[in-house]
Amino acid sequence: MTSAGPGDAHSPRTRTGGVPLVPGGFTWPGCVECAGPMQFIAQIVLEDLAPDEESELGGTMLSVFMCQNDPGMCADWDATSGGNEAMLFPAADLSVAIVPEDGVTTLGVTYKIDYATVAADGYDDAREEWAESSGRPIEEVLGQLGGAPEWIQNDETPTCGTCGKPMTFVAQFEEGPDHQYSINFGSGCGYAFACGTCRDAAFCWQS
Ligand SMILES: [Zn+2]
Ligand SMILES: [Zn+2]
Repeated sequence: MTSAGPGDAHSPRTRTGGVPLVPGGFTWPGCVECAGPMQFIAQIVLEDLAPDEESELGGTMLSVFMCQNDPGMCADWDATSGGNEAMLFPAADLSVAIVPEDGVTTLGVTYKIDYATVAADGYDDAREEWAESSGRPIEEVLGQLGGAPEWIQNDETPTCGTCGKPMTFVAQFEEGPDHQYSINFGSGCGYAFACGTCRDAAFCWQS
C-alpha cells in the first residue's frame, strides 16, 4: 500500500484517516481504560485483498480504531486490552459515521492508497525495493495488504474470540509520511486481522 496523496475523508475505498463508513446502528468505539472515544485509523475494503466472491472475507470492510486520548496509558497496542477496536462490517449500505464531539477521534490527514506489487523476500525488502525502483521516499509506503506480517517483536497473531482459531492477517500499517499527522505506533507498525467465519476483527501494534 503506497500513498496516492491526501484524499476524500468520506471515500468508500481503502484509506488511512478520514471518517469511517459504518453500518446502521453503529456506535463509535470507546476505550475500556479511559472511557474516551477512540481515534479512527484506517478502513480496508476486503475485496481488494480477496476479490474471489467465495472468500469468507469478500464483501466486508475492516475498520480500525485505537485510543489516543492519553497516549501510552490505555494499552492501545494490545489486541485484547480494550484500548483499540477492529470491526468487520458488511461492505454494502455503509454511511459516514457521526464523529463524537470530544476526544481524539480522527487523524489530521486522509491518504488515498495505491497498490504496488513487488517481487521481494518479505515486506521489509518489498518496501525498500519499491522506494528504490520508484525513486520515492520509503515513508510513502503506508503498509502491506495480505502477505505475511513482518513482526517487529514476537508473533502476536490473535485468536478469534468466537471460534478460537488464529485470525487471518489482513494488513500491516506504517505511521505515514507526515510526522505532524502520523498514526502513533510508537515508531512501529500496526497489524490488522480478521475471522471471516465469525465476522470479527482484531488489531495490535508493535515498536
Ligand atoms: Zn483510552
Ligand atoms: Zn472465528
